[in-house]
Amino acid sequence: MNIKERLHRILSTLPEGVQLVAVSKFHPAERLQEAYDAGQRIFGESRPQEMAAKYEVLPKDINWVMIGHLQTNKVKMIAPFVSMISSVDSERLIEEIEKQASKNNRTIDILLEVHVASEETKSGWSEKELRTYLASGILNNMTHVRVRGVMTIATNTDDESIIRRDFTTIRRIFEELKPQFGEAFDTLSIGMSDDYPIALEYGSTMVRIGTAIFGQREY
Ligand SMILES: *Cc1c(COP(=O)(O)O)cnc(C)c1O
Repeated sequence: MNIKERLHRILSTLPEGVQLVAVSKFHPAERLQEAYDAGQRIFGESRPQEMAAKYEVLPKDINWVMIGHLQTNKVKMIAPFVSMISSVDSERLIEEIEKQASKNNRTIDILLEVHVASEETKSGWSEKELRTYLASGILNNMTHVRVRGVMTIATNTDDESIIRRDFTTIRRIFEELKPQFGEAFDTLSIGMSDDYPIALEYGSTMVRIGTAIFGQREY
């Protein structure tokens, strides 16, 4: 199957209203163009330099989503054009996004990344840290950052019960935080190539799929 066929096969399994982020990290711009020509408009990248380079050469109506851990000093590289930063995992990062978005006269959508998986290596706030931060009210003063929801990466395991446990946790956090934010807080980003069918059962509104569209990455 080519990119177009894989893309359309995946899209046909997504319920209405679920957004597909085509995770194109490590793939050359030509492959993204193929997906674009097949109708895809949302692309996810994990490295700011790579995203900026692709932004330069690809059509300007693409929505770029930063999905990887972002260092604060790299925010300015993508602030002029990025649609969403879905891997927001610290207070300092939010402050920098607010600053750079303001400089560019823009509002940048963000997702709060919560760590619910078993592995220590995964980034994101613990639920407790996140709640402490939110209770501080600092976020209420941000006018160029729009909190759209939460994101997590489930434990990397073949044990489906653990993946389901992770999705149950993030779903609960999403529902519990909703009332604090209002209308715009509508995004639960869970599900990657291997676990997105399960994520859909837990109400994912934004899946992030790379390998199943573009094939294996060459690092
Ligand atoms: C790489 C990556 C993905 C896509 O993973 P696949 O298994 O290739 O679908 C999704 N989300 C994040 C945060 C990633 O870093």
